[in-house]
Amino acid sequence: MACQTIRSAARLRPSVLGKIIPDSLTSSRISSSRFVRKELFPSSFYSQVRMTSSSSSDIQNKFALDNKYQGLENNVWVEFIDLNAKLQPLNLGQGFPDFMPAESVVRELAKTCDIEANPLLHQYTRGYGHPRLVKALANLYGNLINRGINPMTEVLVTGGAYGSLFCAIMSNVGPGDEVIIIEPYFDCYEPLVRLAGGTPRFISLKPENPTDASSASWALNMEELRSLFNVKTKAIIVNTPNNPLGKVFTRQELTDIGDLCKEFNVIVISDEVYEWLVYEDNVHTRIASLDGMWDRTITIGSAGKTFSLTGWKLGWSYGPAHLMRNLHIAHQNCVYACPTPLQEALGAQLEKEIKRLNTPDSFFYKMVTDLKERRDLMVRSVRDSGMIPVVPEGGYFMMVNWKPLENKADLSEETDAQADYRFVKWFAKTHKLLGIPPSAFYSNDHKHLAEDYLRLCFYKKTETLQKADEILKHLKNS
Ligand code: PMP
Ligand code: GLN
Repeated sequence: MACQTIRSAARLRPSVLGKIIPDSLTSSRISSSRFVRKELFPSSFYSQVRMTSSSSSDIQNKFALDNKYQGLENNVWVEFIDLNAKLQPLNLGQGFPDFMPAESVVRELAKTCDIEANPLLHQYTRGYGHPRLVKALANLYGNLINRGINPMTEVLVTGGAYGSLFCAIMSNVGPGDEVIIIEPYFDCYEPLVRLAGGTPRFISLKPENPTDASSASWALNMEELRSLFNVKTKAIIVNTPNNPLGKVFTRQELTDIGDLCKEFNVIVISDEVYEWLVYEDNVHTRIASLDGMWDRTITIGSAGKTFSLTGWKLGWSYGPAHLMRNLHIAHQNCVYACPTPLQEALGAQLEKEIKRLNTPDSFFYKMVTDLKERRDLMVRSVRDSGMIPVVPEGGYFMMVNWKPLENKADLSEETDAQADYRFVKWFAKTHKLLGIPPSAFYSNDHKHLAEDYLRLCFYKKTETLQKADEILKHLKNS
């Protein structure tokens, strides 16, 4: 008995000192052997064991949320996904389609689960990305930006685009560094920069011509942007097409941003998850393709947006080997490898898409054609209601100015600091339509710029968009 205790105690000692005390190793069992007590465990071990009798307030005090996460307790997605679950409204909040993705990609995933399929498709794959997928991504983007991309050193597959943002920011930004963020911005950019120890510097896009209904009129003031660059600037995060605004940055704007980056030796983290969703004559420009920009650009994409399957949570980044090496190191020290079956299916689907790129059979072409109709339907509904849409040039969100219907809303019951939060909550509770308050996409000092808006997602079934139309009519006539 004593022998067995010694053996298991010795085996468990590192974890015991690491404070994980298994049920089987109770203190009464340990004390049954003086040898075990005296020789195997130093007195510090006993103080660890005694810890198990700490009061729950001791535990809570010692294990309060670590400082680096203080202030990040509230999150717009957590809050509004929760509200959706509670109220069951028509959900035009979080961005995802409410219908099946393309049959072809779903069938590719089903193939990986065929009992005759390669059994290794159910095991770990290469950490920086499954070979079939990274080759397809290197091939696709190599064609699009007209350069050879090394699939092994210049591509990384991550848990969603979030994973690439995490790796890009964590591995390139540290204490003392500044990162320029253009508002409105996908909300996680700011906390990621702060978690990395960096300081975000914000600049807001502002509507230049209030009578212009398009997201194109939201401009970046280049003089103001220049004033944010300095020796501490490490990176600028650009999101085109932009979430939530739908702005598609022009080639000129991206060239101007790139020129500042070259002048101040700064990298670009280019979030292009909506790269295929660009309407009318707008063109998606990949900043990595601009003169001299490859060497200083990390470009981020998402399978969720590329093939309308946000639940797959696969993303990627590509860029020059000297920058991607940093991301690889961040990734190998957290997630390490992403799910193999999903990567295999995505790789197979991309191989097909590469062959039909720029033809009417391309999934990307069909998706954007289809989405433009949905966008136009929503523009009509919003205008009919009396609210003012900012017609997006890209993406699948629309910023809507709700101020014209202010007198229909009783926000007195809502307690949030920002009026857009109050309006969105009131609207969801009273009229059963949920959007997202866009001040979540602004830094504290600039939240007021978004208070008159709500963000609606229009990547929904026609039936859902028709229900939204009815709700908006009802609001107008209320
Ligand atoms: N960037 C932007 C601009 C987004 O809108 C999103 C949300 N999909 C992401 C990154 C994260 O994408 P993923 O779901 O692939 O992690
Ligand atoms: N990118 C999506 C949106 O903006 C989803 C974000 C999320 O789920 N965190 O709605």
